[in-house]
Amino acid sequence: MNKPVQVQSVDSGCSDDLILRERGQREVFCGLTGIVWLHRKLQDAFFLVVGSRTCAHLVQSAAGVMIFAEPRFATAVLQDRDLAGMADCNEELDRIVNELLARRPDISTLFLVGSCPSEVIKLDLANAAQRLSVAHHGRVRILNYSGSGIETTFTQGEDNCLKALVPELPEQSATVKSLLVVGTLADVVEDQFMRLFSEMGIESVHFLPPRRATELPAVGDGTRLLLAQPFLGETARSLLARGATLLEAPYPFGVEGTLGWLQAAATAFEVSAQRFETVTAMPAARAERALVHYRELLGGKRISFLPDSQLEIPLARFLQRECGMHAVEVGTPYLDRRMLVAELDLLGGHERLSEGQDVENQLDRLRNDRPDLTVCGLGLANPLEAEGLATKWSIELVFTPVHGFEQAADLAELFARPFTRRERLRFRSCS
Ligand code: SF4
Repeated sequence: MNKPVQVQSVDSGCSDDLILRERGQREVFCGLTGIVWLHRKLQDAFFLVVGSRTCAHLVQSAAGVMIFAEPRFATAVLQDRDLAGMADCNEELDRIVNELLARRPDISTLFLVGSCPSEVIKLDLANAAQRLSVAHHGRVRILNYSGSGIETTFTQGEDNCLKALVPELPEQSATVKSLLVVGTLADVVEDQFMRLFSEMGIESVHFLPPRRATELPAVGDGTRLLLAQPFLGETARSLLARGATLLEAPYPFGVEGTLGWLQAAATAFEVSAQRFETVTAMPAARAERALVHYRELLGGKRISFLPDSQLEIPLARFLQRECGMHAVEVGTPYLDRRMLVAELDLLGGHERLSEGQDVENQLDRLRNDRPDLTVCGLGLANPLEAEGLATKWSIELVFTPVHGFEQAADLAELFARPFTRRERLRFRSCS
C-alpha cells in the first residue's frame, strides 16, 4: 500500500558505524492502519479518512466490517479533481461532516485523517479542521492528522494522531506530580498496570490515549512520561515542549522490559526498593515460569526483522535475552535513539542493525542469511513462505495485547506459532 520512495544511497553512519542505513523501495503499510486500534480505544471518537477507494478498502479490510455497532471510522472518497475543483472538494467535505455529526450525537472528537492520493494532498485538512471546528464549536472537537503512505509507516499513524491531541490537553497545575503512560494499550493491560502503580503507591496515573476523548489528561512541569510504544517520538517531543519529563526505560515487553519500565516510574516517584520488590516479585516470577516452555521452543533459533512496526529493537531484545533466540538482522524503519536508548544498551551487539529499507537489498541479505524466522509485513510474508522461509506478520504484534508480565508468554507464543505450525504440517505429510 505504501508508495516507493526514490532510491538514494546505502551508507553507514559516522558515530553509528555499525548501523546499515538504506533508502530505497519500502514494503510497509501506511499510517491509516493505526485507525484499527485507535478507534477501539477512543470510544467516543470518529476517524474520517479523506482519501480514495484504496484507502477505504485498506481500513475496511484491516478493521473488519462492523455489523452490530455503529462504525467509528469511514472514508470520504474524493474523486479526481484539478485545483479549480478544490472549492467543491471543501464543500463536499463540509457536507459529509455536517451530515455525520447530525446523525451521530455520540461523537465527541472527529479526526480528519489525510491520505496520499494527489487530490487529497491538494486539500488543506488543517484549514478544513479549523473551519469545521468554528462551525461546530461547543459540540465537537475536530482535529486532523496524516496517515499518508508517503509520509508514514503503519505505526506512525498513532504518533500523528496522539500528537494532534497534545495541544488539546489541559494545563496541569505546577504543584501536581503525575505519571502519563503514552501509547495505546488494551484495556485489560491498562488495568493491570494501573493496579501495579497503585500497589506501589503511585496514585496520579493517566493514559494517552484515554478510553474517552472527552477525558484527556492534563500535562505540565510535574508530568513524568513513560512511553508504552517506541514509535511515539513526535508525541513525546510535543509533550516535552509542554513541560513534561521523559523517563528513560526499556519498553514493557517480557519480564526484563516490564521490570525496567516499572522501575523507571518507581524511581521517579521515590518508591522504596522493598515495596517495588513486594509488588513485582510474584507477577514477574509467574511470567518467568510461563516463559520456560517457550525458551525450549525458541532457544538457539535465528530470527531476522524486516523494518515495519518500529517494535523491532525491543522485540529483538526480548527474544534474545529471555527466549534464547539469535537475532541475525534487526531492521527498523526509523531509529529514534532518544526513544530507544535503554533498549540499545540491552541489545546483544552481535546483530546487524539496519535503518530504513531498500527491499531488494534486504531480501538478498535475507536469502543469504536464511534465518529460522522472519518478521515482516503482510506483503512479503507469502512470497517468503513460498521460498521456504518461515514468517511472522509484524502487524499481529500491534493488534495483540503483548505488554506487561501477564502477556509475556503470549508474546513468546506469537513467535513460537510458526514453528509449531510447520512441525504439525511436517508430521501430517509424513503420516
Ligand atoms: S493513504 Fe496512500 S498508501 Fe494508504 S491506503 Fe490510501 S492510497 Fe494507499
